Amino acid sequence: MRRLVNFLVAALLFTCAAVAADRTVVVVLFDGFSPFMLEGVAAPNFDRLQREGASSRHLVPSFPTLSMVNHTTFETGCWPAYHGIVANEFRDPVMGPYDTKADRADAAWRTGCESMWQAAERQGAPAAVFNFVGRWSSTAGKQATIINDEVPWKDHEDDDTILAKTAQALEDSHIRLIALYFDYPDSVAHGDGVHGGKTKDAVAKADTVVGRLMTMIKALPKDRQVDLVIGADHGMTKVDKVINIDKLKALHHFDAEVAYGSGSAMLYLKPASDAARVARALRRYHATFEVYRKGHFPAYVHIGSGARVGDLLLITRPPYAFEGSELMKPDIAARTENISGPPIYEPQVKWFNAMHGFKPDVVAMHAIFYAWGPGIAHRRIKQLDMIDVAPTVLHLLDLKPGNRSGGKTIDLTH
Ligand SMILES: [Zn+2]
Repeated sequence: MRRLVNFLVAALLFTCAAVAADRTVVVVLFDGFSPFMLEGVAAPNFDRLQREGASSRHLVPSFPTLSMVNHTTFETGCWPAYHGIVANEFRDPVMGPYDTKADRADAAWRTGCESMWQAAERQGAPAAVFNFVGRWSSTAGKQATIINDEVPWKDHEDDDTILAKTAQALEDSHIRLIALYFDYPDSVAHGDGVHGGKTKDAVAKADTVVGRLMTMIKALPKDRQVDLVIGADHGMTKVDKVINIDKLKALHHFDAEVAYGSGSAMLYLKPASDAARVARALRRYHATFEVYRKGHFPAYVHIGSGARVGDLLLITRPPYAFEGSELMKPDIAARTENISGPPIYEPQVKWFNAMHGFKPDVVAMHAIFYAWGPGIAHRRIKQLDMIDVAPTVLHLLDLKPGNRSGGKTIDLTH
């Protein structure tokens, strides 16, 4: 009898191991997708994900709630202090400026955390990665077995190409992790607003992409276990008042390089500046924004105090946003306003509508999250952090979290 039990236990363990070894996870990251954007949009595929799988309306981004920061947090499960992408724009004393002119997708900017595909590959699970930042490094080359070429953002391969490559990768059962990035609804929602018509179209387009992936997964042979995990890097909210840092510089006599992040901004003061004096001068605007000196940031700010971090961190809340002359260039009227107007004003020229970058407790910054597939239980997850996604995906694959990952594993199977 005991031998029979031992045999059954061994057989069961073997079966479990075999099931885990066969599983593939398709991970999708949309840009700037708040659950509020689904209101008033026919989204049958997102509805189905919610009905059949695990979902949450509160995937909480890391601060600042910006794209580059949270793509990297999503992929690595690390806080920005460890992965090194502390803002959408920053300055590195050796590498120089990380901004729209640099190749911000280059994994060489990272400071030591593994992406989920690096962690998977290291543990023997090959990955395919399309359009995601960090799939390629100028110093170390390809970061996964299959990637599409590193190209400037505007030349990204289109949805049809990416989905065709996904179908191809799914046919190879050795590929255990497939990761895809889509740059919407963010790309239209900044101008069109959270509930604008073009934003609704982008949400409907995302729903179509999800439907195509579900169809692809359903069409696979019965012995394949493929799960879908979908998230976004941050949400979005309406803003209509500008805090003009250039004007503040002139009024309060300080000079600084500014890393603009809409809901927040970092100031790199010029050498010999008196940081305490500048902080005091700016704190008179406390009704509109908060001022923190490096080394004294609030607990939810996990950007550390390394060389990439500015001397002062300014944090505002909607409907205010930090914007400066660089972003005013598209419109002369706005630029004139920028020079002559008050430090905090409502722009006459409505060249923007919705923004992000605010602190993570602003609910509109929270992003969608779904998981669906044969191994996934139907449940509502109250809240999860962006750092939880990578360890959760790796756990589905029966793999360990990446180096320095700080996230917890969400059990999606019960
Ligand atoms: Zn954005």
